[in-house]
Amino acid sequence: MKKIAVIGAGLTGAAAARTLVQQGFLVTVFDKGRSAGGRMSSKRTDQGYLDLGAQYFTARSDVFKQQVQLWLEGGQAEVWPCTTVLLAHEDGLSSLKSSRDEQTRFIGVPSMQSPVKALLQDIALITACRIQKLSYQQQSWSLLSDEGQIYAGFDAVLLTLPPAQAQQLMAQSSLPVRFENTADVLEPCWAVAMQAEASPAGDAIFCQHPKLRFISHQQHKTGRNSCYILHFNAAFSAEHLHKPPEFWFAEARVILSEELKIQQSIEPLVAHRWLYASQNDQVPAPGLITLPDQQLWAGGDWSYGGRLENAYLAGLKLAQAVIHSYKLQQETV
Ligand SMILES: Cc1cc2nc3c(=O)[nH]c(=O)nc-3n(C[C@H](O)[C@H](O)[C@H](O)COP(=O)(O)OP(=O)(O)OC[C@H]3O[C@@H](n4cnc5c(N)ncnc54)[C@H](O)[C@@H]3O)c2cc1C
Repeated sequence: MKKIAVIGAGLTGAAAARTLVQQGFLVTVFDKGRSAGGRMSSKRTDQGYLDLGAQYFTARSDVFKQQVQLWLEGGQAEVWPCTTVLLAHEDGLSSLKSSRDEQTRFIGVPSMQSPVKALLQDIALITACRIQKLSYQQQSWSLLSDEGQIYAGFDAVLLTLPPAQAQQLMAQSSLPVRFENTADVLEPCWAVAMQAEASPAGDAIFCQHPKLRFISHQQHKTGRNSCYILHFNAAFSAEHLHKPPEFWFAEARVILSEELKIQQSIEPLVAHRWLYASQNDQVPAPGLITLPDQQLWAGGDWSYGGRLENAYLAGLKLAQAVIHSYKLQQETV
């Protein structure tokens, strides 16, 4: 039985791992985080979950629609009954404009990462384990964690990390680096959670704004704290990347009170910095990155244009690349 190491327990890694296990491979998934989910994670607090990363997902392809249907039936996802609105900013003034659409938006329940955890059920998962070096000898991979633990005997490795992190890992492993043009495909985002009552205008607020990308209120999300999550846009997040949480809380407070006209009390909860958040539209999506001679493949949401659906599809494609490679080997024996 072929042993596969999947590094990264986000949606890409989980989809790849589940597909490979279904095809009879022996899979171990590694993640540096405390649990699976990656950028699809919610932070657990005493008052409920805070969705600091992905806010919702949509399903356009048949294969992802089928998967979402399984999550809905399994109780790991539900439709987000949100009202969409646009925060426009013209001539220095902000205004909320109606922008209703027919798009169905889904969320994980009780937290965003529930669908990832469902995919990884009964699959070996090693968390709080940052892989810092890979080595390939006699057609077998060993993984070294930053705590000095060695995991050996893998026939193939899948890297499902943001490209800058995958590039760093490959460089530390003296492997040919194949990410020269893709390291900056994912851009940063500061995410800020603020306790406040919802504005009646809407709870999914798309922003055409000098500082913001998206604001959501969690009032209609099962299991969540009733609060706002503000996602600052890539340019503003990059410009102030190293500012402390207090800076972000102050920015968020001004936007909620002056631009969304929230009258009630506004309390800061959490500010989180994502160094690699979402796709830079100016950089072409590179597809999967492969080192076929060493049985190593890399991919993620960034391979196909960002977003959760593309992470899922990348996971399927990574698994198919492994399956195809072993089929070819069997045919040539
Ligand atoms: C703020 C924000 C808002 C977003 N909003 C949306 C949205 O509304 N809708 C949508 O569809 N998408 C959204 N996205 C994008 C979506 O979250 C991603 O497309 C998706 O989660 C990517 O999944 P992935 O598995 O490819 O990568 P990730 O989720 O990043 O998974 C990579 C995993 O690798 C792990 N890792 C990294 N380095 C190592 C290492 N050396 N060793 C071990 N583990 C390692 C990380 O801990 C992580 O868990 C958003 C993302 C962010 C950050």
